[in-house]
Amino acid sequence: MRKPFIAGNWKMNMNSATAVALAAGLAKELEDVDTVDIAVCPPSVYLQSVAAALSASNIAVGAQNVYFEGNGAFTGEISCDMLKDTGCSYVIIGHSERRHVIGETDELINKKIAAAINSGLLPIFCIGELLEERQAGKTNDVVADQVKKGLAGLCEERIQAITIAYEPVWAIGTGLTATPDQAQQVHGMIRGLLSELYNEDIAERIRIQYGGSAKPDNTSELMAQPDVDGLLVGGASLKVEDFSVMVKAVA
Ligand code: PEP
Repeated sequence: MRKPFIAGNWKMNMNSATAVALAAGLAKELEDVDTVDIAVCPPSVYLQSVAAALSASNIAVGAQNVYFEGNGAFTGEISCDMLKDTGCSYVIIGHSERRHVIGETDELINKKIAAAINSGLLPIFCIGELLEERQAGKTNDVVADQVKKGLAGLCEERIQAITIAYEPVWAIGTGLTATPDQAQQVHGMIRGLLSELYNEDIAERIRIQYGGSAKPDNTSELMAQPDVDGLLVGGASLKVEDFSVMVKAVA
């Protein structure tokens, strides 16, 4: 049985005071929840203060990005060990905004996933199709290709550290949500692919989150799908009330 996992992606929002206030508010509101894994992913400059605010809570901290090299002349980048040093346990890798705004490739994403797992971080590996790809009937091909390239070279033992987040790009920050059926169709396809790439036992254990305008209103219907194991939440994770309602609905 997969434990549900709800993560909030704060993106490039908050300041030092509001980040800590949001974390503290969530810690209080969600202190009794023990049937859902919860994480928040603040901007990297606030990781340490948010981790401190959540240190006695049931909420883990994740980063929104990482670089695959250990250290050295990589101006502006942050290594896995640095993230762990701030108190992070998760890291989002391959978010569509990094793929399509910053230009990250599947090959770079694969290196980041491998580095994160090797260092003991738990990657939240994002995949998802563009609107034109869905309209052209290419969703399964695009998503399967991203999964294969992102996980290339990762053995059975290491793959188990991963959470996959299916985030149709057309649904991110747009208010458009995939229908529960659309989400289930892709999640089921991904689980089948994991079974082919690894084995059925591993495929059954890996959690697949849905992301894309998930909010209090649609949480229950999305989570009712058999292969939807959690949510990666953007906009609705920025308010204590919305995010807590979603986590409690799942709990
Ligand atoms: C996200 O950024 O991962 C996301 C799903 O955003 P939103 O919930 O705002 O669509």
